[in-house]
Amino acid sequence: MSSPAGAAAVTIREVGPRDGLQVEAPTPPGARIRLVQALVDAGVREVEAAAFVSPRAVPAMAGGAEVMAGLPRREGVRYWALVPNLRGAEMGLEAGAGGLSVTVSASPAYSRRNVGMEVEESVAQAAAICGLAGGRVPVDVVVSCAFGSPYEGDLEPGAVAALGRRLTEGGATSLTYADTTGMATPRRVADLLAEVGTDVGLHLHETRGTGLVNAYAAWQAGVRRFDTSVGGLGGSPFAAGAGGNLATESFVHLLDDLGVETGIDLDALLEAAAVVRSIVGHDLPSPLVAAGPRDRLAAGTSGEGGGGALV
Ligand code: ZN
Repeated sequence: MSSPAGAAAVTIREVGPRDGLQVEAPTPPGARIRLVQALVDAGVREVEAAAFVSPRAVPAMAGGAEVMAGLPRREGVRYWALVPNLRGAEMGLEAGAGGLSVTVSASPAYSRRNVGMEVEESVAQAAAICGLAGGRVPVDVVVSCAFGSPYEGDLEPGAVAALGRRLTEGGATSLTYADTTGMATPRRVADLLAEVGTDVGLHLHETRGTGLVNAYAAWQAGVRRFDTSVGGLGGSPFAAGAGGNLATESFVHLLDDLGVETGIDLDALLEAAAVVRSIVGHDLPSPLVAAGPRDRLAAGTSGEGGGGALV
């Protein structure tokens, strides 16, 4: 088959230890460190490892400084901390975060109801965090609800892009557009990329089963940075029981087959998925974890004794 040899590398920022575990029952810092260790062993080089948020509001993220202090320090590995405000940013920097991620909602109603701030205040706060970081570490601003909001429905890509430009003017090192509500489809990804360009990150959700196809469409369009979560864990706050973040192993499996370099070893990544499964104590939403890679068919699936009616 044709394989685009030397196809440009993709950078995956693994968000499982933060976005993935945030919605689970609280796990001690030691378990979260063990997960990051397994991910780094698999070749992951960018990890959102902790959040410096109120432990009352998000109990699962308590002990962020302890997590950061216990992470394996490796050449070329960067640990990101999610920070909701200036105080969180100070704590993240003190704890040794190599990058700060800050969320600004593209949806005015979502921002008001779920963040308790007007978008304007949120933009000003992101700029203040960029000022605090002062170029010492990168600040990635994640534009949430970039593909729509539960309150306003679809958002105008031009308006989302205008918000992005203001965040860049405010000092953001990079921007990541997030499909928080799972409303993106390939044509809507194309519509947004036509406005914002392809030098952006994408944070895609599987809420409606479109995460992987959206990532593929974005990759074909030229996007090279993606947030994914091991095992597909993560929040789908607007669709209870649905899949969470795009699963890291599903995307690596696809990129491997396309000959695209990620630096991540799929077998070792599946071991990290086993670690996260043992931490959360329930099955993972990731189909690849359930079925295994396409080139490793398990013994006992030869069809012998079956009804012969499977398609
Ligand atoms: Zn997410």
